[in-house]
Amino acid sequence: MECIFCKIIKKEIPSDIVYEDDKVIAFLDIHPVNKGHTLVLPKEHNENLFDIPERVLDATMRIVKKIATALNRYSDGVNLWQNNGKASGQLVDHIHFHIVPRFNGDGLRHWSGKKYQEGEAKRVAEEIKRLI
Ligand code: 5GP
Ligand code: ZN
Repeated sequence: MECIFCKIIKKEIPSDIVYEDDKVIAFLDIHPVNKGHTLVLPKEHNENLFDIPERVLDATMRIVKKIATALNRYSDGVNLWQNNGKASGQLVDHIHFHIVPRFNGDGLRHWSGKKYQEGEAKRVAEEIKRLI
């Protein structure tokens, strides 16, 4: 079955588009975290951050900034997030950036933090450095 965001890009499925150019599209998320929650994505189908070519990512990030700036005018602040893989909560396998306008006192909570044991952060940092 074809990707739902590719269908939106081809206008086979309706959406509330707020911006479009030859490479990138932005439309409202159908289940907004806050009103104005917008998805920004490249028109070229790439699954996630690991397989998107850098030139496509560059074009997308320019528009992420443009839309985030607009949403910051519409609200009091902006969250940006992007899921990669099932464990992260990615539901649509066409890379997209969530841009969520935030309003003072809107009640949305950040993730709660975990704690490292003694020496653990150093080991984790070493492991990540090895993987870069
Ligand atoms: P993910 O979890 O993959 O990062 O987020 C996918 C997002 O796409 C969800 O927030 C969901 O509400 C949104 N979404 C899924 N299907 C549609 C659709 O058909 N139209 C629109 N506008 N948004 C969609
Ligand atoms: Zn797609």
